[in-house]
Amino acid sequence: MTALHDTTPGLRPDLQPYTYRRRELVEPDWRRFPGWREVTEAQWRDAQWQRAHCVKNAKQLRALVGDLLTERFYDDLAADQQQLATMSMLVPPQMLNTMAPDAPLTPEAFTEAFLADPVRRYMIPVRSDRDPRWPSHPHSARDSLHEAEMWVVEGLTHRYPTKVLAELVPTCPQYCGHCTRMDLVGNSTPQVAKHKLALKPADRQDRMIDYLKRTPGVRDVVVSGGDVANVPWPQLESFLMRLLDIPTVRDVRLATKALAGMPQHWLQPKVVEGLERVARTAARRGVNLAIHTHVNHAQSVTPLVAEAARTALEAGVRDVRNQGVLMRGVNATPDDLLDLCFALQGEAGVLPYYFYMCDMIPNAEHWRVAVWEAQQLQHAIMGYLPGYATPRIVCDVPYVGKRWVHQLNEYDRELGISYWTKNYRTGIELDDPEALERRYPYYDPISTLPESGQKWWSDQS
Ligand code: SF4
Repeated sequence: MTALHDTTPGLRPDLQPYTYRRRELVEPDWRRFPGWREVTEAQWRDAQWQRAHCVKNAKQLRALVGDLLTERFYDDLAADQQQLATMSMLVPPQMLNTMAPDAPLTPEAFTEAFLADPVRRYMIPVRSDRDPRWPSHPHSARDSLHEAEMWVVEGLTHRYPTKVLAELVPTCPQYCGHCTRMDLVGNSTPQVAKHKLALKPADRQDRMIDYLKRTPGVRDVVVSGGDVANVPWPQLESFLMRLLDIPTVRDVRLATKALAGMPQHWLQPKVVEGLERVARTAARRGVNLAIHTHVNHAQSVTPLVAEAARTALEAGVRDVRNQGVLMRGVNATPDDLLDLCFALQGEAGVLPYYFYMCDMIPNAEHWRVAVWEAQQLQHAIMGYLPGYATPRIVCDVPYVGKRWVHQLNEYDRELGISYWTKNYRTGIELDDPEALERRYPYYDPISTLPESGQKWWSDQS
């Protein structure tokens, strides 16, 4: 019974579905891993050391963790890499160190904790993580958002009337198992031969700048990849300065997961000084320069990540925002989402901006949630954070674009098909009179459907 004279102050946090408690950020001790026992603080903060010590295969993982992971784990990992992985392994020490931070250091217990770890689940996927019956949705596709179809110049996607996405490099300092650009980004895997960009980077950038000069209706440029942390700084700075020279460009957003995956990159003096020059120019010209990062779990928000975000803000970047990806087993609960948002907003100066539903790429069904689950999550996280810092959960509907998850037009829950509409044409629909009338489908994971719906899909296949 709720006593009116209860001594718990405030609105009885113990009676709320989510209890906020301020938590201090911690950098887990990397010396708990045998391979990093001797690694000094100076080495850890060094971006070159981080790049040189990324874990790229099972052999390097073994050398790092010694006997902490059992053979069961390595067998599971090898099976995944051979049969299902769409991304090759590339995990910076900073990210690996946030996995199973408090696990007991005995093989069985550590393996259990590592397998259950939310960051491990998307950075080092194993076979047993995947959906055994429907690893891929029948409508899944490489380049599920059809970005390459909308290239106006190689790597420049013009999908929204006023905005473009400029992919400068097809690489990142870290590779995420669920990468939506799995078609292009990273090294080929046994399952996926990656497409290659044909133009030389300098030529591609010249053509992008040329298109933007000729297209004054585009005011917003997302400079991405891959990850801009993999563009050599002088090259990136020169591209950004040329963008800022175009008077019609009013927003520039730099996409970099490395801010959280390898914050050491964004703390290098040459990068900070360069960012200051770019931010000063942007401010002088009245352009909104922001960094968009990609953090999926509160464990990843460490003091170094907060330091990198605050350093970017001090350098004059107007805002650092997070675009996480909503994934089952990683963060698809109200508590996980709110813990992450409070760590970002309250402790690191990063605005929780979006959570994307995981896109319909091959072998991603175990991560994806149904639209109705995303709607419930959106409802559950309302009211705790400041309104401007309450993230929107969005569905990137193929051929439509980002939509808030409640904006669907119609929803067949039995077959797991939601229908969406759009209010602008992409370049490939300019001659299509039906484009704005059509309903565009999006599909829930089949394993989330009622039995009758699952049977329907089985019958189809
Ligand atoms: S950082 Fe972004 S582009 Fe790079 S692998 Fe991860 S999701 Fe893909």
